[in-house]
Amino acid sequence: MFDQPILHHEPTPITDKENPLESMMRRFDIAAEILGLEKGLYEYLKTPAKQVIVSIPIQMDDGRIEIFEGYRVIHNDILGPSKGGIRYAPDVTLDEVKALAAWMTWKCAIMNIPFGGAKGAVRCDVNTLTKVELEKITRRYTSNLLDVFGPDRDIPAPDMNTNEQVMAWIMDTYSMHMRRTETAVVTGKPLILGGSLGRREATGRGCMIVTLGALEKKGIKAKGATIAVQGFGNVGSTTAQLLAEQGCTIVGISDVTGAYYNKKGIDIAKALAWASTHRTLDGFTGGDKITQEELLELECDVLVPAAKEEQITAANAPRIRAKIICEGANGPTDASADPILQEKGILVIPDILANAGGVTVSYFEWAQDRAGYFWTLDRVNRRLERLMRASFDAVYQSAEKYSVSLRIGAYILAIDKVAKTLKVRGIYA
Ligand code: GLU
Repeated sequence: MFDQPILHHEPTPITDKENPLESMMRRFDIAAEILGLEKGLYEYLKTPAKQVIVSIPIQMDDGRIEIFEGYRVIHNDILGPSKGGIRYAPDVTLDEVKALAAWMTWKCAIMNIPFGGAKGAVRCDVNTLTKVELEKITRRYTSNLLDVFGPDRDIPAPDMNTNEQVMAWIMDTYSMHMRRTETAVVTGKPLILGGSLGRREATGRGCMIVTLGALEKKGIKAKGATIAVQGFGNVGSTTAQLLAEQGCTIVGISDVTGAYYNKKGIDIAKALAWASTHRTLDGFTGGDKITQEELLELECDVLVPAAKEEQITAANAPRIRAKIICEGANGPTDASADPILQEKGILVIPDILANAGGVTVSYFEWAQDRAGYFWTLDRVNRRLERLMRASFDAVYQSAEKYSVSLRIGAYILAIDKVAKTLKVRGIYA
């Protein structure tokens, strides 16, 4: 059965090119219908609780003053303090941040971690900024949001183009204003500042764990399974490396500069070394150069889109030949591609499950900071594996129960949990 909505509510409008918010809402609509979510709850859960836009004036290194725009969207905090990363990108929009914030709500609900969902962004191009300018932007953004952030309120983390250093500046700025060191206000920090072992690899490790689960369901042995990975940032490269360690053959990798194919398997250690000396994969000799489209359409067991949104659309979905898709990125597949992939029998591990390893170890980091007691890497990885496997099984069962895709099964699970919690809490007036 296909995931077709039988709408009782106003459907989310479909435009020529979907944006992530529409894609998120179209899946939400389907799951809400299946759950028979009452109209009031439907409206409540689709509306962000808070949307803040801040202006960030910065004196640039050459003395000019430039104004950047920053966002923080709290989708909701029904399950606990809101949680979600901050991305820096020149073309980021408030709609994109709203979708990403909602995905965080569903992600935390699926993983059974006590957080709501949020996301933040600053419209800026990190490639044109100096380190000093980046620090100023980060600190001013943080100080503008002092009333929003807090270890019991809203806890940021890294996302596209932000890293441990950016988190360290956020933690320091917040702590300076609070007149005390508050490590738990942000996760994805450097280890030395109260970060967690295993956090940096957590998203890729989570992808590896659910990919192994999906291979098992499809009756494909991990050893020798062929994998194509789009994106060679933190998530893509770690997933490739960990799957290679499991005996998989990584036949394709890519980054913004190009895609590479090697039937016998790309040496991921070499690719990592290349990327660390050259900053990109440009010129990598461990595989034949292919186009970005060809990479997505490679014949392989697993495709891991771990780059950015809207890579698999109704236009290229008919040409996808992977048996499994593990969504390392947030929103790499358009809602209009969903029924096409489903008809082709491709098992899609949806983003809100596949890449939830990051926020899960963020939760571990927050818990360690608050306890002031730090875990071994082995403990972090074992607990991550346990939670990822449990959530993979729960999503799989939900999909089977309602005869829907894993994606809709995941939305059903998440929305049901948040809606039930909301009902018990009641609406404060
Ligand atoms: N930015 C990551 C995500 O999209 C991690 C969020 C977090 O750790 O709070 O899931």
